Amino acid sequence: MNKENTSSRLPVMSGKRALTSSSDGEQQPAQKKMRKVDTEPPQRFRPASVVPARRPVPVKAPVAKPLRPTGAATVALAPSRGEQKKPIAAVAKAPAGSAASRRPAWDLKGKVSDMETKVQNYQSKVKTVNQENENLKDSITKVQKREAEIKEENNSLKRRLRDCEEELVKLATVKDDLEQTSKERDEFQKKFNRLTEEHKVLEGLRDHLESELRNVQTQLSIQTSALGRCQDSLKESQEMVRNLEETVTRQREELHFGEMERRKLHNTIQELKGNIRVFCRVRPLLTGNQSDVPHIQLPAHDNKALTLAKMEESHTGRTADTQKSYNFSFDRVFGPRTTQSDVFEEISLLVQSALDGYNVCCFAYGQTGSGKTFTMEGGDMEEKWGVIPRAVQQIFKCAKALSEQGWKYTFTASFVEIYNETLRDLLYTGKPNKRPEHEIRKVSNNEITVTNLTYQKVNNEDEVQNLIMLANQNRSTARTGMNDHSSRSHSVFQLDIEGENTDRDTKCKSTLCLVDLAGSERVQKSQSQGERFKEMTAINSSLTNLGIVIAALANKDSFVPYRNSKLTYLLQNCLGGNSKTLMFVNISPEEESFGESLNSLRFASKVNDCVIGTASANRK
Ligand code: ADP
Ligand code: MG
Repeated sequence: MNKENTSSRLPVMSGKRALTSSSDGEQQPAQKKMRKVDTEPPQRFRPASVVPARRPVPVKAPVAKPLRPTGAATVALAPSRGEQKKPIAAVAKAPAGSAASRRPAWDLKGKVSDMETKVQNYQSKVKTVNQENENLKDSITKVQKREAEIKEENNSLKRRLRDCEEELVKLATVKDDLEQTSKERDEFQKKFNRLTEEHKVLEGLRDHLESELRNVQTQLSIQTSALGRCQDSLKESQEMVRNLEETVTRQREELHFGEMERRKLHNTIQELKGNIRVFCRVRPLLTGNQSDVPHIQLPAHDNKALTLAKMEESHTGRTADTQKSYNFSFDRVFGPRTTQSDVFEEISLLVQSALDGYNVCCFAYGQTGSGKTFTMEGGDMEEKWGVIPRAVQQIFKCAKALSEQGWKYTFTASFVEIYNETLRDLLYTGKPNKRPEHEIRKVSNNEITVTNLTYQKVNNEDEVQNLIMLANQNRSTARTGMNDHSSRSHSVFQLDIEGENTDRDTKCKSTLCLVDLAGSERVQKSQSQGERFKEMTAINSSLTNLGIVIAALANKDSFVPYRNSKLTYLLQNCLGGNSKTLMFVNISPEEESFGESLNSLRFASKVNDCVIGTASANRK
């Protein structure tokens, strides 16, 4: 090794150290070179270990080669801080110092060997550093590898973290779900418990029902056997019913023929009794003792006779008073104590005839106050009912009974008043000033009808009772205008009866006439004048005409003067040969009525003597 190489390539020589040997002039170049080295900033060595990967140091320069004072050489000579620095300084320092001090200036050889020793030291040092550098590189590589691994690991951990977070979010919802589910489970548990309870109750119930069912089944089997017995007896019964039905049909036939036979016989009886009959009825005294009626004598053993008796004073006064008696006999005489129902009993057979298809006419004749209206209409109480309500009651009752034999009836009522030969509708409900006029007309089939008259269909006795009340109202309004109007007018109640038996193709039609005649009293001519006279004339003439008509019918005259009065014209069909007539002669018991009673009884006797032609039913 040459001198130049040895001295010029000394690294890590500080300025101070160089100065220590600068006394020697030969050292100057070295000193300069050393300064050059010193210009390199010392910190450039240091990062070698800090950032080895980025700045690889050219460490593989051969140690044997002469070191150039480059940056790279200085790097290699200054490996690191710390412990390793000391030996270098010590090695470099000690021999230089001791050699400088020990070797004389001329001992160049010694100095060279010292230098060589130093170089060797440095070289080994470099070797060591290189080795160290290699190791460091290795460890850097390892570290880098590790870093990459760590990064990779970090990334995978991050991914894992993300996954975990996602998983966590999922788990949160799962947790919510779980909570919800757990709540629901609790609910279900509660429900389940409740249902279990219910189930227990139901089981109890079921057990109970089962035992009941067993009972019912037992009963059922009992009933079934009973049913079997019943069915047997039912068959027997059905057989019996069939037989009975046959019997019923046969008997119905018989009944119908029996009914027709009855009607015939009934009529024969009525004919034998006389188609016109007269009943006399004596009204009770309205005041005083009933026994105080000596002039009317009713024999106890004979209910058909009546005697009017009167003591007549001697005209001369020389002879004794004589009793004058007038004997009458009628179909029936009713005394003052006879009840309404007793009276009706006698005429109910005639009413039956009306339902059988015969025209029936019933009059009440007598002076005012003798009891005509009481007999025909009677009082409001049922026991006081007169002929009209009782007849109507009987007719509806019989019609109902006959409906079972196939008869169907319709009833039409009318109520008319004849005053001064003028007709007045007693069932009128319109305005008083609009009252229509009425005329009697004969229509086809010789039927008599009144124009503008109310013909009211009736279905039961109540409806008829209402019509009677309406008629009374109509009469009472008239009464206010004229004094006791009703006593001077005839009132005629008519019930048209139409029956039909479609099974037998039989029809019947008849009219029931119930007439409350005007008072029969005769007013002395001297007392009557004006309207009153006119009234009396009208009444007398219509009543007289009634007598004439009956007489003509009795004589079977070819001409019967029906048209001479409104009354007979209206009642034409009820008086003719086709009808049954009943006349009540009503008598007042008061002594002052003796004369009128006598007149009435005489009139009635005349009627009683008449025999009207045989009646025949209006059959079609
Ligand atoms: P007429 O209609 O003939 O004028 P009424 O029927 O109005 O007579 O009778 C006159 C009075 O006599 C009435 O108060 C009536 O109640 C009464 N009267 C009539 N007949 C009887 C009788 N049989 N029983 C009881 N009171 C009667
Ligand atoms: Mg009257």
